[in-house]
Amino acid sequence: MVTGDAAYIKKINRSLIIREIVKEGMISRADLSKSTNLTRATISAQVADLLEEGLIIETQLEHYSVGRKPIMLSLNGQAGYALGIDLDYGQITFTLSDLLGCPVSSNIIQLKTTDYTEIRHLLIQQINKLKAEFTTSRYGIVGIVIAIHGLVTKDEVIHYVPRFQWHDINLKSDLEVEIDTPIYLENNANLSSFAERVYAHHETDNLLCATLYSGIGLGMMMNNEFFRGHDGYAGEIGHMIVVPEGKPCNCGNKGCWEKYASESSIFEHLAETRQISNLTYEHIQNWLNEGDEEVYELMEQFLFYLAIGLNNMINMYNPDVLVLDSELLRIFPNSLNKISENLNSSISHYRELMISTIGKKSCVLGACALAIKQFLDVPMLNLPYDKNTNQVGSVLI
Ligand SMILES: [Zn+2]
Repeated sequence: MVTGDAAYIKKINRSLIIREIVKEGMISRADLSKSTNLTRATISAQVADLLEEGLIIETQLEHYSVGRKPIMLSLNGQAGYALGIDLDYGQITFTLSDLLGCPVSSNIIQLKTTDYTEIRHLLIQQINKLKAEFTTSRYGIVGIVIAIHGLVTKDEVIHYVPRFQWHDINLKSDLEVEIDTPIYLENNANLSSFAERVYAHHETDNLLCATLYSGIGLGMMMNNEFFRGHDGYAGEIGHMIVVPEGKPCNCGNKGCWEKYASESSIFEHLAETRQISNLTYEHIQNWLNEGDEEVYELMEQFLFYLAIGLNNMINMYNPDVLVLDSELLRIFPNSLNKISENLNSSISHYRELMISTIGKKSCVLGACALAIKQFLDVPMLNLPYDKNTNQVGSVLI
């Protein structure tokens, strides 16, 4: 350990102070001194530097009943921007948020290719365009996080993206050659779980988030860190076998959970039986409104298989909060109660099971939040989330 090195100690103290401001949202100098055990003089000098840099701002509290109105310190959301990129099959979403995680711009580019070179060029072009647009703030774009819908190693190398058929690709270093902003790669399900923790569930340090759209992905936040497994691939829960000798899966096994309990399994079934090629949630909503018995039965079966896998997950991880991200669960009446009714083992324990309030954009918001966390170098973030104002608008270009 380096001791007696003034610059090093200053850096550590600065990090401690930023962490505390981020944790509390708003805090006075006096309380900062108490919670960090740093002297008033140290706090005063460091805060002056942070104010000068524009990373934090002062606010005088109004309506303070007793004594002098305290001056509170908080992060300056306008000091810079985080860029989250969701590299999904068929489309790429680019969302910029301020340093408080509030989206300020978002656009979606439709992808007609899976070719790596073309996609890499497109990413570089768009990132440079956004960097040029957002130069006016103190820090500009502070970091870029790209969501990968596949396996990412602990060293952030893309090991496998099934729908792109990409194997062992080093997108991070390929981009770093062209772009001088810090770039991070992360699995999409991990980013969704991160968004749930950062925006919606400040109270927990143990959260699982299962996304049920195309297949089933599981993101795990344990002790406020990603649980990655040995290589970084943990959470491929959709390929847990729930029906021996069941439906064949493209992973090579039979009876995988996502063949029964993902939204794509329902969509594929209904598209085939009803001969509709571009089936939407609206179709399903209308059938449910009409009381279509076959659709009701199919949804009941979906919930039944969903509960089987959840039961296994709960027994394995004993989660505090378990979030399910699915539009079908949102539109099917009473879905959460029906799942809970099937989770009645005396052994399995969890505190809260819920449907995501953030929904599909959790992946890209989690990417923005992770870029902020890396920039501030803090162990965890609690960001405000307003369902109405945090909507990520989609602009097709
Ligand atoms: Zn499988």
